Amino acid sequence: MRTAIIGGGIAGLAAAYELEKARAAGAPVEYTLFEARERLGGSLASETVNGAVLELGPDSFLTEKPAAAELCRELGLGAELLPSNDEARKTYIVVRNRLVPLPDGLMFLVPTKLIPTALTRLFSLKTKVRMALELLHPPRPTGLPDEAVATLVERHFGSEAVDRLADPLLSGIFGGDSAQLSARTVLPRLVEMEIEYGSLTRGMLAAHRKMRARAAAQKSGSGLAQSKARPAPRGIFTALRGGMQQLIDALQARLDPASIRLSTPVSALRMVADGWTVEANGSRELYDAVVIASPAWAAGELLGQVDSELGEELSGIPYSSSITVNLVYDEAAIGRLPDGFGFLVPVKEGRAMLACTFVHRKFLGRTPPAKAVFRAFLGGMNNEAMLAETDAVLVATVRRELNDILGNKAFPAGVEPEHTQVSRWRRAMAQYAVGHRERTQRIAERVAALPGLRLAGNAYDGIGIPDCIRLGRQAAKELIALSPEPAVSRS
Ligand SMILES: Cc1cc2nc3c(=O)[nH]c(=O)nc-3n(C[C@H](O)[C@H](O)[C@H](O)COP(=O)(O)OP(=O)(O)OC[C@H]3O[C@@H](n4cnc5c(N)ncnc54)[C@H](O)[C@@H]3O)c2cc1C
Repeated sequence: MRTAIIGGGIAGLAAAYELEKARAAGAPVEYTLFEARERLGGSLASETVNGAVLELGPDSFLTEKPAAAELCRELGLGAELLPSNDEARKTYIVVRNRLVPLPDGLMFLVPTKLIPTALTRLFSLKTKVRMALELLHPPRPTGLPDEAVATLVERHFGSEAVDRLADPLLSGIFGGDSAQLSARTVLPRLVEMEIEYGSLTRGMLAAHRKMRARAAAQKSGSGLAQSKARPAPRGIFTALRGGMQQLIDALQARLDPASIRLSTPVSALRMVADGWTVEANGSRELYDAVVIASPAWAAGELLGQVDSELGEELSGIPYSSSITVNLVYDEAAIGRLPDGFGFLVPVKEGRAMLACTFVHRKFLGRTPPAKAVFRAFLGGMNNEAMLAETDAVLVATVRRELNDILGNKAFPAGVEPEHTQVSRWRRAMAQYAVGHRERTQRIAERVAALPGLRLAGNAYDGIGIPDCIRLGRQAAKELIALSPEPAVSRS
């Protein structure tokens, strides 16, 4: 079976890796990976400057989703996995230019500890009273239509919780807007808790109790309590010591170089009697199967010629753009920074920056001693115009805002960074808008009617790296299962 993979981001690479493994094991599969840009990796890219690892796109993945770490281990990168420095984990929200720590006991968007919630400067008295009364919230009937995350959060905790919690936390993940994001897709557990318990706080506490009981049972069952064996350190996030580029390089090294076509955007796709024709750089080739791992808007353009409704559904998935700005400083030249990993900026603060990570604190050993690395994240749904600004303007904006927020002592305006790096990610982050789950079901139904077609990538069932890897590998495995048995195993 000859498969064309369109898009060499992490999803397309994961699909190619799976096909390459099958090919090497003797399965009758061949593949060609078409990538529009001159490099593989899509949003994953990093560079090392004077010993400092700078992430241009994502800096890590969620440890609780195993697909990414599993792939890294398979590729021989197990020793390169680096847990986040959770001992120093503390995140702030910017409120009227001041850094306010997230209160203890906050489980994603849900407060679960009375005293820290009562004492925090993050919320007004009115919101705190509302949070206490939330314990009495009645259950929601099942079968109601999807709604925006902002609507769900506001119903339980009020509008200040939307502005100071939901918006900044979600824009850090999706570069998106809680008034548009789907509660059912982005916060499915909270939607279920509301149906079962009414109160999200009560639901979250019950889930936490169950989790602890399960963990205790597992621990005593496995004898770990008595054993001296220490589990490998785990952080909430996992990075690679040399940056995400390590994963891309390791994947590329496993693939057959003759199967990779860089700077080759696919311009047309057609379904024909004996498979699919793929047009790129002026030539047309026939394949038995296609994995489209490009962003959904690009998939929509290609598939619109095959099935116009499918093309429209795919093109209807909104995307946001973002910018990352890395600034490297001599630590002695700046002042003492607040403890923790960094801060999030609510949209209501009216700033360009959505978040800033103190990289040297979040992952130890990736920044040389006595250096500080700030990684600012700009853009989001309401700030597309910023992509057109020059690097110099973006760096100056970040420096000005860091000075405003951290103060002139911690971040003196006049101190020049030793190195700056700016990356623009245009329409890179899919937004799971209200009705997303229904839309992906309609997409799946239409794709199922087109033999040999699979979709993978961040637009469908998870925006993060582990989900993209899972979907890419799954798409390839399904196609491998369709290919005829190798001649050798038949004989
Ligand atoms: C700035 C930023 C920070 C992020 N931070 C994190 C994080 O910390 N942790 C995390 O888990 N996730 C993070 N994400 C999300 C995650 O990185 C992405 O969702 C994921 O990498 C998307 O992978 P993909 O393969 O689906 O798409 P992409 O990486 O977008 O790759 C798609 C590829 O398709 C190619 N392409 C498009 N059209 C064509 C065509 N016609 N022909 C051929 N090729 C085509 C593109 O050039 C691109 O290389 C972040 C994303 C961004 C942008």
